[in-house]
Amino acid sequence: MKLENLKNKIDIFDVVIIGAGASGLFLANILKDSLKVAIFEKNKIVGSKLRISGGGKTNISNLYISDDNFFSFNKNIAIISHNIKKFGIDKIFKFCKNNNLNYIKDERLINGAIFCKNNINLTDILLTNIQKSKNIKLNLSHEILTINKIDNIFNVRFNNIFDKEVFAKKIVIASGGISYSDLIVSDISIKIAEQFNINFYKFTPALVGLTLQTEQFWFKNLSGVSILAEAKINNKILKGSMLFTHRGISGPLVMNISLYWQKGEIVLNFLPNFVIKNILDSKKQVSSLLPLPKNFILAFLETKRLSDFNLNKNNINIFEELVYELQNYNFAPAGNFGFSKAEVSRGGIDTNSLNIDTFEVLNTKNLYFIGEAVDVTGELGGFNLHWAFASATSCGDSILNDFKKNI
Ligand SMILES: Cc1cc2nc3c(=O)[nH]c(=O)nc-3n(C[C@H](O)[C@H](O)[C@H](O)COP(=O)(O)OP(=O)(O)OC[C@H]3O[C@@H](n4cnc5c(N)ncnc54)[C@H](O)[C@@H]3O)c2cc1C
Repeated sequence: MKLENLKNKIDIFDVVIIGAGASGLFLANILKDSLKVAIFEKNKIVGSKLRISGGGKTNISNLYISDDNFFSFNKNIAIISHNIKKFGIDKIFKFCKNNNLNYIKDERLINGAIFCKNNINLTDILLTNIQKSKNIKLNLSHEILTINKIDNIFNVRFNNIFDKEVFAKKIVIASGGISYSDLIVSDISIKIAEQFNINFYKFTPALVGLTLQTEQFWFKNLSGVSILAEAKINNKILKGSMLFTHRGISGPLVMNISLYWQKGEIVLNFLPNFVIKNILDSKKQVSSLLPLPKNFILAFLETKRLSDFNLNKNNINIFEELVYELQNYNFAPAGNFGFSKAEVSRGGIDTNSLNIDTFEVLNTKNLYFIGEAVDVTGELGGFNLHWAFASATSCGDSILNDFKKNI
């Protein structure tokens, strides 16, 4: 199709971005000075997840970021390593400095977590930068329904049929995942992947609480109790706090387990720092000897049909066995709390279908996927936003280069 024939009847953009979330807004900030860009956002506001992330304080990144903090179905580490090396924590600090965004290190729940200060909103900073630019057209309440590639140009169709037809030289899908489904979300990325024959992994809930089999229903009586524990899942060891709830288990440790768990058993260590030999001489009750809440110990003993007992040389074997079980508690979760509670979606566009340096689809020139729409999902602790910004930056820099070369 010849661009000249289309002019005046339609809007033609250098780049159309689908989704004004974390990655789409960051990308628009990169392109805003040089290219004619349109953003289409299904929601009435931009950055609906970004605004509530980190409980409103936005856990923007992590000091100790590495490829080990990410899950990908195809285990393609190269795209993760490459992009977090290119866009390291220094780039986050530089962004904060340039935008007068204050941050703090808050490691109460997660090592190395960097949060934005409460009173400054990252979403508004990204939005204001865009609004100042004459090159960017932000279209809220515009849901992209389909895209089509006609020769070398994309046609974008959205829900508002009264608007002009929109065409784009390049399209970036920054539509996120389908978690936290009470917010407006969509699986347009998967639909586009199907249409263009791009490999993808089905979205599944992650960073979410886990539900229990009947053998673990004793956990439910501990609703509201929180403990520090360790988990072994596949070859990974995770540590953090775990919260018992009426539905199952949650808290940072469990949310991270949910990122790596698909089915089968996990091993929990409820006594990660406990060494048995220090207390063998004690004559105290078991419930006061172990560094766990008393109601936890009593509930655990009940599952063994035992009540609390004083330690003595005749029952030391039983005690040692209990400690072993508490440090190697095998169980298979029944499932998870689902998309409505999940902070992120695992899965998305197969990274083997993307250029690792630019996020362009290998089989479709000028089509890109970034952020959570891609099959790269981080642990709790700022890794998902870092990924959204890192992928947006690699994609944005390469798009700028492409247009520079063509001038
Ligand atoms: C409660 C909560 C707290 C979180 N806290 C943190 C945190 O502190 N730190 C962290 O690193 N991560 C956090 N996350 C995860 C993080 O918010 C996401 O990983 C990140 O926002 C993903 O960025 P994205 O741009 O890929 O997608 P999103 O930010 O989800 O943006 C996608 C955008 O695309 C729009 N869209 C979708 N489909 C269409 C369509 N068809 N047409 C037009 N627009 C469309 C959506 O409305 C949305 O605005 C949290 C998530 C939740 C739910």
